[in-house]
Amino acid sequence: MIKIKNITKEYILNKNNTIKALKDVSLEIKEGELIVIKGASGSGKSTLLSLISALAKPTSGEIIVDDKKISKLPDNFASTYRRDNIGFIFQKYNLIPTMSVAENILLPLIPLNPEPEDMSQKLEIAMKMFDISHKKDVLVNNLSGGEQQRVAIARANVNNPKIILADEPTANLDEKLSLRFVEIIKELKAFGKTIVIATHDPLFFGLDFVDTEIELHDGKLI
Ligand code: ADP
Ligand code: MG
Repeated sequence: MIKIKNITKEYILNKNNTIKALKDVSLEIKEGELIVIKGASGSGKSTLLSLISALAKPTSGEIIVDDKKISKLPDNFASTYRRDNIGFIFQKYNLIPTMSVAENILLPLIPLNPEPEDMSQKLEIAMKMFDISHKKDVLVNNLSGGEQQRVAIARANVNNPKIILADEPTANLDEKLSLRFVEIIKELKAFGKTIVIATHDPLFFGLDFVDTEIELHDGKLI
C-alpha cells in the first residue's frame, strides 16, 4: 500500500549548510499493517511521516501510495490526498481549547465542504467509536486528559482515513493514558487501518500486534 523507495530528504539551512534528515530509506507497508518506527530524537522519524502525508517532498526517491506517486504531487493535489487518506495524531493533540468536542472533531471535514447531513453522520460515528458522544457540546478546555485524547483520535478518524500516522503520540501522556492509547491503536488495527507510529516510547516495543518494528539512526534505516 505504501512504497517508500530510496528516499533522501535534505533540509537547506543556508547556502553552506544542509542537513540530511533521511538517507536512502526504503520501506514497504502493506494494507492493514501496523508499523512502529523507533529512533532517538533527530533520527528522522517526523520527517518520514511528513513525506508519507505529502506535507513535504523528498529530495530524491519516491513514495507510492495506492499506486499513486505522492512524492511528486503539486500542493493542491497533495492536500486532497491528505484529506482523503490520512489521519494524523499529534503529540500535543493540537485541539482548539475554546471549541467544543463536536467542532474539534469536524475540523478536518470543513475544507471538503460536505453536506450538513453527511457531516453530522460522520461526527456521530466518530464520537461513538471513541466513546465521547456524551461530551459533544463541551469545550475541549473542560475535558480530562483521557477525554481530550479520545477527541484527538476521533478527529483523526472522522474522515475514515485508510492510513493513520501518529507522531510521538504518548510523549505527553501519563502511564495510564499511554496504556489506553496502545489499546486504541489495537482497536484501530482491528478496524483494518494501516498505522505508522513514530515513537521512542518503549511501551510500543515488542507488542504482539505490531507487524513491523524498524529503527532510524541518523537518517538511516537500521
Ligand atoms: P525525529 O522526529 O526523529 O526527532 P526529525 O525528522 O524531526 O527527527 O529531524 C531529523 C533531522 O532533520 C534533525 O537533525 C532535525 O534537526 C532536522 N530537521 C527537521 N525538520 C527540519 C526543518 N524543517 N528544517 C531544518 N532541519 C530540520
Ligand atoms: Mg519527531
